[in-house]
Amino acid sequence: MKSEVQDLVDRGVVLPLMEEFYTIQGEGFHKGTAAYFIRLGGCDVGCHWCDVKESWNAKLHPPTLIENMVENACQYSKIAVITGGEPLMYNMFPLTEMLKDRGLNTHIETSGAHQLTGIWDWICLSPKKRKLPTDEVYTVANELKVIVFNKDDFRFAEEQAARVNKDCILYLQPEWGRREKMSPLIVDYVMKNPRWKVSLQTHKYLNIP
Ligand code: SF4
Repeated sequence: MKSEVQDLVDRGVVLPLMEEFYTIQGEGFHKGTAAYFIRLGGCDVGCHWCDVKESWNAKLHPPTLIENMVENACQYSKIAVITGGEPLMYNMFPLTEMLKDRGLNTHIETSGAHQLTGIWDWICLSPKKRKLPTDEVYTVANELKVIVFNKDDFRFAEEQAARVNKDCILYLQPEWGRREKMSPLIVDYVMKNPRWKVSLQTHKYLNIP
């Protein structure tokens, strides 16, 4: 039988919270902008180069009332970035509705591998080969951010770009551990294919979370 906590998680009124912090968005279109990050635990995609493997097991992260997350976010910022792990493993409607009610803009960082839920002002879709996005999320993504670990990721990036809507901004971002090798290739690729832009994990260069 389902526990009471699991029932609350399934309804999205309680979510496994890994960490929450006020920082600068380092990546993509909103880089350089201060925002409150809410990192949820749980991801079943399994990227071998993932830099937040501690997030994968949702059970390690305390089920937390979304009211508390919203209250904390309101104290710091007008932008809440929901990240993970994979936030779309959960029903995002209650959390995003509550954030919107309090006047915050809602951003998500997602692989898109699960059903899209929630009310979003900005959707950063970062597709992963191991578990591709759902059809729906391609139609509403604001930015496509492909992580470049090896050369085959350029092929994957084009394959994914062919699926997104026409307004979606296209980014190539070097995987942090491979940045020295891949950054020159990305620079070269973007100059030859200027519909793409370079995204860097600037928060890591700044040494902030
Ligand atoms: S989708 Fe994101 S959180 Fe999940 S394994 Fe891949 S990089 Fe890590």
